[in-house]
Amino acid sequence: GERTPTNLNALADEYLRLAYHGLRAKDKSANCQLITDFGAELPPVSVVPQEIGRVLLNLYNNAFYAVGQRVSIAGKDETYLPTVWVSTRQVNSHVEIGVSDNGMGIPDSIRDKIFQPFFTTKPTGEGTGLGLSLSYDIITKGHGGIMVVKSLEGEGAQFIIQLLCS
Ligand code: ADP
Ligand code: MG
Repeated sequence: GERTPTNLNALADEYLRLAYHGLRAKDKSANCQLITDFGAELPPVSVVPQEIGRVLLNLYNNAFYAVGQRVSIAGKDETYLPTVWVSTRQVNSHVEIGVSDNGMGIPDSIRDKIFQPFFTTKPTGEGTGLGLSLSYDIITKGHGGIMVVKSLEGEGAQFIIQLLCS
């Protein structure tokens, strides 16, 4: 694909709808709350839109899966409101995209492994373990950006992407 000046707010929103509508009624995250905070007047960023879309789709699907798992465990705890947050903002010469959830979080013991190809904690058929590894390459090698994760086990995860403005 070719790089083209892209409105990341529109892209992030488009793929969020795709991911959300892909959830089925039986999915434990199907009534997840979505909170978006798209920065105003975000400058266009030169990216391959389908590639960044693929990265976002995987982050969203991972987030929905993580809150779904916590719904299973929380059971009748009606105070747990599964939530996924998506934000964009300009930080100096970068545009930052954040995808956060209040799902299961990532234990410290696997934190260094999640970007490795084929690493997954999901049952066979539910995950290939390729999403984050591919995403990391798309963001860093493909687009010269950075991708980092913050997580508190049992409380949620936050992935942050930074891409250089055009
Ligand atoms: P897959 O989704 O196929 O398992 P990924 O590369 O997308 O592969 O993710 C690798 C692993 O990282 C997941 O199996 C899970 O253990 C962990 N992970 C990724 N995103 C999250 C998240 N939002 N919350 C908790 N764990 C996560
Ligand atoms: Mg995945």
